[in-house]
Amino acid sequence: MPRSARSLLPPFLFCMVIVLVLLPGETGVRWGEVAAALVLLTGAGLGLALESRGAGHRGTALTSMFALLGAIALMRNGVGANAGFGPLIFLPVLWAALDRRRTELLLVLAGVACVYFLPMLLGPASHYPASGWRGGTLMLVISAAVGFAVIALVEHVRAEGERSAAILAAMSEGFALTRDGVIVQVNPALCAITGFTEADLLGAGAPFPFWPAESREVNSALLREVVADGGGAFDIELVRADGTRFPAMITAVATDLGDESRCFLNTVRDVTELRAHEHRQRQHAEQLATITDVIREIGHCDPLEARPTICRTALALCEGAHAVSLWELGPDGALTTTATRPETTAPYRVSAVAVDHGAHVVMATGRPLFVPEARTSPHCDRRIIELLGAASVLFHPIVDAQGMRGALAISWPEARGELNEGEILLIGVLAGEAALAMQRADLLGRLDELTRTDELTGLPNRRAWDELLVHELAVAERHDKPVSVAMLDLDFFKRYNDEHGHLAGDRLLRAAAAAWQGTLRATDVLARWGGEEFALLLPGCDGPGAAVLIDRLRGMLPDGVTFSAGVATSDGTTPPRTLIDTADQALYQAKAGGRDRVVVG
Ligand code: GH3
Ligand code: MG
Ligand code: MG
Repeated sequence: MPRSARSLLPPFLFCMVIVLVLLPGETGVRWGEVAAALVLLTGAGLGLALESRGAGHRGTALTSMFALLGAIALMRNGVGANAGFGPLIFLPVLWAALDRRRTELLLVLAGVACVYFLPMLLGPASHYPASGWRGGTLMLVISAAVGFAVIALVEHVRAEGERSAAILAAMSEGFALTRDGVIVQVNPALCAITGFTEADLLGAGAPFPFWPAESREVNSALLREVVADGGGAFDIELVRADGTRFPAMITAVATDLGDESRCFLNTVRDVTELRAHEHRQRQHAEQLATITDVIREIGHCDPLEARPTICRTALALCEGAHAVSLWELGPDGALTTTATRPETTAPYRVSAVAVDHGAHVVMATGRPLFVPEARTSPHCDRRIIELLGAASVLFHPIVDAQGMRGALAISWPEARGELNEGEILLIGVLAGEAALAMQRADLLGRLDELTRTDELTGLPNRRAWDELLVHELAVAERHDKPVSVAMLDLDFFKRYNDEHGHLAGDRLLRAAAAAWQGTLRATDVLARWGGEEFALLLPGCDGPGAAVLIDRLRGMLPDGVTFSAGVATSDGTTPPRTLIDTADQALYQAKAGGRDRVVVG
């Protein structure tokens, strides 16, 4: 039996008891009332039948109401029509109205009419004066008015309630109404967010079931603060019914429900997504800042320092990485490191035939290659990996508009999983910047070489000579070794030009430079001083030694072509200018002495 139907039973039984107490009456049987009671009790019987057929509450309500009306009719029989039991008529009217049942209300009104009018229609006229008809009609009209007014009122209140409930149910945020610190209302979203049922939450007070055990004290203090402030918004960690934690944002607003209690409207938002989003945003901002740093660092560095800077930046950029090397192809197709961090005493080399090596692979495919197990991978050189103590290695190509420039190898001492998107993005940006920096460095290097090289002979020019001289003298001074400088001048070169032509003169200059260069040591420096004059710097060579060497050069010129030379030797402190002057004077003496000779100054 439904709850609301059950609730109708006590008043019904109460009325029945009253009827039993009051019957039989003093005035004898009035058959009109008995007939009315019989009709109404038949209605109650029909209600019972309805109930047994499954109409449930509806049947029970009808039974109760008609039984009550029947009882009233019998009471009228027992204690007289004007015994003051009339207002009881309103009870079934109100029951029907409060339950918003229009059909039942109409049936009850019919019952009311039955109570008043049936006895008058059936009973002796002397019992029912005109005032009885008027009174009955009045009660019927008032019952109808009260009944429909109550239905309208109940519908209004119900609609208001339903609207509030619908709003609460539609809220994506959790909602809890607390009264004096106890939850008195929640919405489905709060149950969904916390995983607790409405029954778990209703009636709960601090510590609430969704507070993690270890933060109860902190949360209690926070709660006291919020209550004292009359509300507030705060971030808090909550625990779900299944024990999982989540970050939440709670907003508490004090509200007045018209009683003395302290009520708060609380909204609860699961901010897991929001916090994750914020975390991603922060990461992106950090990445952007790092990218800016990479661009600034590599893009603005000294071109000569470009390669070490690339390695240093890559090492700083890759968390946990312990070594970075920059690989480039040598003229023989072998791979060589052109910069490493930490620095190595000699470059690493991987032969051209080791095509499986990671640097070769990425330069062939143009795609990065991550090697999680470097020690056993064919993509890594076992010797280098052991030297570095690397567990995982990433090879990344360095490409520019002209094509493949090289590869970066970044290694980690601990084995690591695949790189994440952020790391790939950063290393990609770094590799792009590295390609530009290397291109710029190479261009500037070539330009620098051009400005320091003599076009005709390919030897260092006067400008390069000046720098080399200062440098070599400083080195010699440090090592306390002699350095000799010689000025060589072809004899009667003007005549040679005149006789053989200027182009032949050029060829002679080129041939002399190539022949001499080929016979000198790698540490010696031969430069074109200007015209048909050459400068020779011989580290570790004293004057006589220089004279011997210069005599050897003499035999390398075509027949009939000679040169004169002047030699000066540094005692370790001689300034470059003085040394050149001395050599120049010695050369002058050699010319004056008949040419085709060496004079040591
Ligand atoms: P000396 O024995 O006194 O050195 O006589 P010289 O003729 O060699 O000396 P001089 O300084 O009078 O002449 C140098 C000549 O070298 C003048 C110039 O025509 C020639 N010469 C200078 N530079 C070049 C060059 O680049 N190519 C050619 N073919 N000749 C050059
Ligand atoms: Mg000359
Ligand atoms: Mg000359």
